[in-house]
Amino acid sequence: MVKSSESIENRKKRAKRVLRALKKLYPDTETALEHESPYELLVSTILSAQCTDDRVNMVTPTLFKKYPNPKKLAAAKTDDVEEIIRSTGFYRQKTKSIVGATKKIVEDYGGEVPGNMDDLLTLPGVARKTANCVLGSAFGINEGIVVDTHVGRLAERLALTWNAKNSKDAVKIEKDLMELFPRKDWTFIANALIDHGRAVCGARKPKCDECKLAKDCPSADTLDS
Ligand code: SF4
Repeated sequence: MVKSSESIENRKKRAKRVLRALKKLYPDTETALEHESPYELLVSTILSAQCTDDRVNMVTPTLFKKYPNPKKLAAAKTDDVEEIIRSTGFYRQKTKSIVGATKKIVEDYGGEVPGNMDDLLTLPGVARKTANCVLGSAFGINEGIVVDTHVGRLAERLALTWNAKNSKDAVKIEKDLMELFPRKDWTFIANALIDHGRAVCGARKPKCDECKLAKDCPSADTLDS
């Protein structure tokens, strides 16, 4: 971790400037997973594990045409679902998760995706990251902050986390980010950091020389690029 000795006041001031810059850069940011309902976003988010959003967006039109609601997917044949989602990887486990989740939605939640963290976490294949994504982007509820690979990497490079051991320590990174940013911006900050990670601060080649966050980033020009 960089700059672990920085005071929380200072870190909060930097976070405020980072947030302001991100709002200018990505004013309309939203999840790249195409969806038209909480059900579609839930399934897409489960499929996005270890897979690109673009790849998920390629298979979901077929999947949702055949299974347009939780009830239909809950009654699907495993082989048929596996065939459709195969290219997203880990397709056997993902099929178990999405069919299992929709079964529980039908049995316990009247066929509607629940709009709160506790109930979402009872669904097979749904952990906090998926629940945060569904709550934030489908229900407009800022319950937490999605920490995926991009958010983890940028939080570490921008020194927006001080308790995490590394960029994969999602639980601690989320807690630190929640302390730094106002609740109303939690969904925005995750989506904007993901956009910035894709466009500028890539895993292998961060473009620090053209980064608008550089003056507030302790890692600027310290990484190989
Ligand atoms: S200055 Fe470099 S390391 Fe920091 S956020 Fe920008 S691209 Fe990433």
